[in-house]
Amino acid sequence: MVLLGIESTAHTASVGIVDDTARVLSIASDMYRPVAGGIHPREAANHHVDLLPELVTRALETAKVSPREIEGVAFAQGPGLGPCLRAGATVARTLALLWDRPLVPVNHCVAHVEIARVLSGLDDPILLYASGGNTQVIVYGGGRYRVLGETLDVGIGNFLDKLWIALGGTFPGGPALEAEAKKGTELHPLPYSVHGMDVAFSGMLTATIALSGDGVPRPDLAYSVESTAYGMLVEITERALAHRRRTDVVLGGGVACNERLRSMVREMVEGRGGRSYAPPKSLCVDNGAMIAWAGHLALRAGRSVPVEESAVLPRQRTDLVPTPWRTELPA
Ligand code: AMP
Ligand code: MG
Repeated sequence: MVLLGIESTAHTASVGIVDDTARVLSIASDMYRPVAGGIHPREAANHHVDLLPELVTRALETAKVSPREIEGVAFAQGPGLGPCLRAGATVARTLALLWDRPLVPVNHCVAHVEIARVLSGLDDPILLYASGGNTQVIVYGGGRYRVLGETLDVGIGNFLDKLWIALGGTFPGGPALEAEAKKGTELHPLPYSVHGMDVAFSGMLTATIALSGDGVPRPDLAYSVESTAYGMLVEITERALAHRRRTDVVLGGGVACNERLRSMVREMVEGRGGRSYAPPKSLCVDNGAMIAWAGHLALRAGRSVPVEESAVLPRQRTDLVPTPWRTELPA
């Protein structure tokens, strides 16, 4: 069985095709890049509307799959930016009607967990989801994926992007800061903002910009920011492991491409006798393949919807999404 998945929650329009063993047959993506400043939802949605039809064609060609072989069409129903979600949902509905195939709504965060879970072979890992707009620690319990901790202000990726732009760079900031941080040597203290299971980044943003004004070189700033921000994420992830009595962690989101974050998480998890896993970078960032895979799980469990019930849910909460393909493990 082969499913096609459409991702369009934020700046990335992506189409992926995945078979029923989670083999990724293709991913075709295109990212909206704002000319200046942050993401403009309407402009991003226009980008997705323009690009998605050709991304569908490209994904089919790369996968060497004909529309007849597609057994369902999955799409990201939420959470995300309303106009962007609607662009993807409209294309998904059109294809489902055109091809007469089931339409499968998928939660974006659950898709990050499920692709990492199947690729890692880990049964019940905690997900550290670190992306542009989201920063969450997610664990399965009571029949749902639950958000145990999250950012109280901006997502970590948005924080890195804003910081890099304030330091004179261009979007995206995360990879550029990673390159700078590798040259850094001196650790400057920055606000370490952990509140219970939650984190916040705006104080660190202000303090880092102030240090830059004092003449601290960019490599040292980047090194200090990575050490502090990723340290905060490692702390809440470790606390989630301890309290939920889990051993393993999977990573997801664009910031999970970062080698330093991957190694800091690995060190913490292995120190506790567990395993950590980060998917290949193409599957950490937003992509249609993870939507297609989560669609497989949902469809197998009988979850598809008629077009009339396929409205997008920009504020969809992870812990309200039924996960009938998972059987409850002891708490
Ligand atoms: P996403 O929202 O999941 O599509 O991921 C996009 C975010 O990931 C942006 O904020 C990027 O700056 C960030 N990002 C991408 N690569 C890296 C990296 N190597 N290190 C840190 N952040 C990254
Ligand atoms: Mg994402």
